Parts: sequence; structure tokens; C-alpha cells
Amino acid sequence: MSSHEFAIPVADLDASGRSYEFSVRPTWVRGALESHEATATDREGKLVVRISKSGSDVVVHGRLQAELTAPCARCLKPVVIPVDQEVSALLVPRNKLQTPKELEYEFASDEADTFAYDGETVVLDELVRDELVLETPMIPLCSEDCPGMSPPPRAESEAAERPVDPRLAPLLAFKPKN
Ligand SMILES: [Zn+2]
Repeated sequence: MSSHEFAIPVADLDASGRSYEFSVRPTWVRGALESHEATATDREGKLVVRISKSGSDVVVHGRLQAELTAPCARCLKPVVIPVDQEVSALLVPRNKLQTPKELEYEFASDEADTFAYDGETVVLDELVRDELVLETPMIPLCSEDCPGMSPPPRAESEAAERPVDPRLAPLLAFKPKN
């Protein structure tokens, strides 16, 4: 049994390409983003891809739609992050990627993302995870002008005139009378 979520046997592919549609399950996203700030909402996402073979390489083009949530960087309220992203990737057999070093660099600087695969099964888990991470803003904000958790400066004078917190009232008894 494969533990991969998005896996296609290479034997099913040909040069003209085939289309695949996968559900992007929230439970999978939560696992994939475990060490990450963002996580999935309960809404199921979708990965629609067209996959074709080019020699021993595999070309992937498609679209990823999902919905993430991350805490607002200022007030910690959950922020919903809609993901709707074109994806394209080149998968190269792992043994071809490992030799020689310069080739690896060349692949890395390629426009499409390059991933290694075992030559038998195309696994898109890493591609999907990478896209989700990339689509999460570095500083998620619930709104551009989120005031954050501390009160805005102009409310400060107001706070100073506020009556004493009733829980602190007993302390006032110790205050020396003039
Ligand atoms: Zn906020």
C-alpha cells in the first residue's frame, strides 16, 4: 500500500498526456504542513493536472485549489488563505538526477520545479506541499490595518481615566488617606 496521496503509475502515461483530478483532503494537508504555521480549513481542495511523458521525464501542468488558514501575525485571529495556483513541474528519474553534479544545478535553475521520482511512480505530494507553503504569506494579516492585540495609541488616554478594576478595589483600602 502506498502512503502517497497523489501518485500515478508511469506505465499509465504516454507522450500525449492524461488528465487527473485529485481531492486535496484537509487531513492530508494538515499532516503535510505539520511543522508549518498554516494548516487546512475544513474545505476540501482540488488538484487538476495533465501529465505526459517526455522520454524518461514526466511533465506536469495543472492547477491547485485549496484553502488554508494561519494565525494573523498581529492579533492571532485565524486568517483564511485561498490558494488557486497554476502548477508545473518536471519529474526526472532519481538515478538521472544524481549524476553529475552540474546537471543537478542545471535542473535546479530550470523554470519549472524539478522533482525526482523513482522511475515507476509519479508522486506529486512534495509538489503540492511546496505550493501550499509558497502560497502562505510570510506575515499573514487578517486585514492590512489590523491594529494587533495592544490597544491603538489614541485609546491610551481613555484607558487612564477608566475606573479602577473592581478586582483591584480591595487594594485601595491600603492606600494612605490624605
Ligand atoms: Zn489581525
